Amino acid sequence: MIDLRSDTVTRPTKEMLEAMMNAEVGDDVFGEDPTVNAFQEKVAALFGMEAGLFVPSGVMSNQLGLKVLTEPGDEILIDENGHIYNYETGGAAFLSGIQIKPINGNRGKLDVAYLQNQVKGAFDWEAKTKVICLENSTNKGGGACYSKEELLAIKYFADEHNLFVHLDGARIWNAMTSTGIDPKFFSEVGDTISVCFSKGLGAPVGSMLLSSKERIAKARRFRKMWGGGMRQIGLLAAAAEYALDNHWELLKEDHRRAKKLAEVISECSAFSIDSDSVETNIVLFDTLEQDAITVVERFAEHDVHFVPFGPNTIRATFHFQVGDEELERMSMVISEF
Ligand SMILES: *Cc1c(COP(=O)(O)O)cnc(C)c1O
Repeated sequence: MIDLRSDTVTRPTKEMLEAMMNAEVGDDVFGEDPTVNAFQEKVAALFGMEAGLFVPSGVMSNQLGLKVLTEPGDEILIDENGHIYNYETGGAAFLSGIQIKPINGNRGKLDVAYLQNQVKGAFDWEAKTKVICLENSTNKGGGACYSKEELLAIKYFADEHNLFVHLDGARIWNAMTSTGIDPKFFSEVGDTISVCFSKGLGAPVGSMLLSSKERIAKARRFRKMWGGGMRQIGLLAAAAEYALDNHWELLKEDHRRAKKLAEVISECSAFSIDSDSVETNIVLFDTLEQDAITVVERFAEHDVHFVPFGPNTIRATFHFQVGDEELERMSMVISEF
């Protein structure tokens, strides 16, 4: 099975399982798991943040980030393609009592031009705008990455208007691989940062919220309240740490293969694609003759698995368990389509 439905489908490697078996553990609800404690410190230090909190999913770290930055009745600004808006089950409304203002940006990215005149709260009858949510790299936006300049401009705007910035960095590893931006830079931009180890890095479970000590202490209470207090999670932290130490460097290969796939698709008359838009491991392309669901089913018959990502849009997402051999096989299937 050539599975490009997502970069979440990877299975733990033997070496990763060994790292898990060798992990020293304790009860993390008591704060006594040495492996997760050390890992939280390591990732926080990597990004230049004060503290980190290991959580089961990217959804939980995003929602905890919003929870600690907002009060009920506040509003957050996000690109209309944002994960927090589209794929988190309405969690922001339910868990934080906040409303989301989706903004029509560019490939999942916001910039200051889109944010002008969106900040509210001066009058009693307006929701108070509190947070700008950024996704880097973008998911529904097709893996687009922010440049340093773009991020700094948004941060400047946020400071000017007394807004926080939450950075959804589910694929920040891909963004860093693609742009070469240093991890510490992101602490200049994000008040809260969510990073995932279970996407392209290939851990079975795990994300982390990064922020100040005070906010992380607050997030820890909500994690417990929301049922995310975990016990001997050194096992999971060891897998995530193995992934970080060993798989980050593999992302550039995913990006190379994604570019190659885009080239193959661009030579096929049944599809249209903007090859220049492929910056990371995600390839979005449009079907010209049949709808996306039908085309995805036809590829599946040849054991090549993508996901429909709109009526006429398909997404292919690379990860380290799809290699050059698989790339060649899928290229043949596509060329013969
Ligand atoms: C996958 C993803 C998440 C959420 O991650 P889960 O671990 O599946 O909850 C958040 N944001 C973005 C951009 C994602 O792609």
